[in-house]
Order: sequence, then structure tokens, then C-alpha cells
Amino acid sequence: MNLLDGKKCADSLIAGIAKQVARHVDFGLRKPHMTVVLVGNHAPSESYVKSKVTTCTLSGFESNLIRLPETVTEKELLWLIQQINADASTDGVIVQLPLPKQINAQRVINAIAPEKDIDGFHPTNFGRMALGQKAFRPATAYGICKLLQFYQVPVAGKHCVVIGRSNIVGKPISIMLSNDFDIGNATVTLTHIETPRELLLDETRRADIVIVAVGIPGFVTPDMVKDGVTLIDVGINRLENGKLVGDVDFAAVAPKCEWITPVPGGVGRMTVAALMINTLMAYQNNFELA
Ligand code: NAP
Repeated sequence: MNLLDGKKCADSLIAGIAKQVARHVDFGLRKPHMTVVLVGNHAPSESYVKSKVTTCTLSGFESNLIRLPETVTEKELLWLIQQINADASTDGVIVQLPLPKQINAQRVINAIAPEKDIDGFHPTNFGRMALGQKAFRPATAYGICKLLQFYQVPVAGKHCVVIGRSNIVGKPISIMLSNDFDIGNATVTLTHIETPRELLLDETRRADIVIVAVGIPGFVTPDMVKDGVTLIDVGINRLENGKLVGDVDFAAVAPKCEWITPVPGGVGRMTVAALMINTLMAYQNNFELA
């Protein structure tokens, strides 16, 4: 069993980004700038935002965090996004999800200027990604690809099963790994809550790569996978005892795996690193450096 160490990979990518930024700054340009919008006091969101802001500093970026109360209206949030879209000193913006019930998250995502959409959730970026065109790729899926690339895990020609079809993880990673990308050309099966259990087991048991993003602790058990599988655990679940676990029963499944991601220290770190790559790209696009 080998660990796909997201921290090691992310640290290496961020060191490379910081070097590029230093060169641009030496050349007389300003630093890249990320704006993060956080609505309310959702504890996991606080922790994700903190990690993004800290990683901006490590990458040599400027960042600012805009906090809004839980009671903010959709209209007020959309107005703020318009201001950020028009602000030439911000290269990329993240609106941390989830949003309170009174706000339609898709309407908010759609309001972000595609050229600042470093999460890669805007329909323009998602569509361009799906068509294989240059785009900001959804950060978690992009981070998974970067992790597979870093450890030179073979993907092309492999059979990959994705469990979970959310717009932010399952759907984009299934498209990216099946596309003709550097890390792609796999044969991908996308499964979801309506996938019959027997069919799910048939698929996962013959998969070379299993990617799970369902948000259920211990969902993947050893009987579901073959020996030598590569297992990517996207889940982040907080147990009652405070422990953070993924969607895989790690202790039981890891001995069967050729490669496996830990939680924490796996995909979560890569999501933040991918956001930094997207922000650098947004900045380089602004200065026509790419
Ligand atoms: P989500 O929007 O809740 O989607 C979960 C998906 O799992 C849905 O598509 C659902 O199917 C599917 N599902 C639920 N039960 C299933 C079952 N029994 N069999 C097959 N599919 C099933 O979740 P998400 O946003 O993708 O997040 C999933 C997990 O990843 C969460 O723990 C989240 O915290 C974590 N996450 C981590 C990162 C990171 O950076 N590491 C980033 C994002 C999310 P339906 O569509 O049919 O309902």
C-alpha cells in the first residue's frame, strides 16, 4: 500500500507557484489576489476558508476575506459579486459553499465573472472543461488529477468508477478522467444514489481506480474493491468524537490498495492547491503572461 500524500504534492505545487509569483513581482507586477466571500458562521466553512487564506500567503498571493452575516439577502450578495467582478485588483473570487437557505447558490455562481471563477463552477468554465477547452477546472477534481500525475499513477486506459455525482466533485472528475486530457483517457462509470447496490458492487469490484465522494463515513469497505486498486477518498466527515474521516473504511481497505489517499492530508489539500493554480492562471491571463 502506498499513500497518495496530498500534503507533499500540494507543498511542492505551492512552492512552484511561489517561485513564479516571485519572478512576476521582480518584474514589477503586483501580486496575484484572491477574494474569498464567507456567509455566516458554518464551522467547516470557517476552517476551509482559513486554509485557503493561509495557502494564499504561502503562494505569494494577496487575499482578502469578506464576511457577511447569515441573514444577508441574495440581492445583497449578488451586488457584492458585481463589485468584485468590476475590481481589477482581484484576479479570482470564491464564494464559500454552502450558502444559507434564502440564497440560490447556482444563481450566485452564475453571477461570478467566468474569468474570475477560480472554483471552476460557472457554466462557462464547466462547459469549456467538458469540451476539452482551456478553462478553470473545478478545483477538487483538478486537485485529484494533479495528485495522480504527481505520483505517476497510470490513468489512461484504466477502468475508473466514481461514486457520487455532485456538480462540484463527482460529475467533473468523471468528465475530466474520460476526456482526452494529460491525466485522462480512462473508461469511466459514474454511479449515484439510484445505482442498484449489485450494479455498484459489480463496477467497483472490477475498477482499477475508485473515486468516492458521497459524504458517508465508511461507505467503501474491503469487499467492494479488488486487490491493487487505486482509491481516492474525497469525503470529509466529522464524527461525534470530533475525528475527521473520509468515505472509506481506511484501516480495513488500505491493505488491498496499490494507492490510497488519507483523510485528512489527501484530496482536501489538493483542492486548495488547485485553487492556487487557477488563481495564478487568472492573474497570468490578466497580464497576458500565459
Ligand atoms: P453531495 O453534493 O452531497 O453529493 C453526494 C453524492 O453522493 C450525490 O450525487 C449522491 O447521489 C451520491 N450518493 C449518496 N449516497 C449514495 C449511495 N448510497 N450510493 C451512491 N451514491 C450515493 O456531496 P459532495 O459535495 O460531492 O461531497 C461529498 C463528500 O466530499 C462530502 O463528505 C464533502 O464534505 C466532501 N468534499 C470534500 C472536498 C475536498 O476538498 N476533499 C471537496 C468537496 C466535497 P444523488 O445525486 O443521487 O443524490
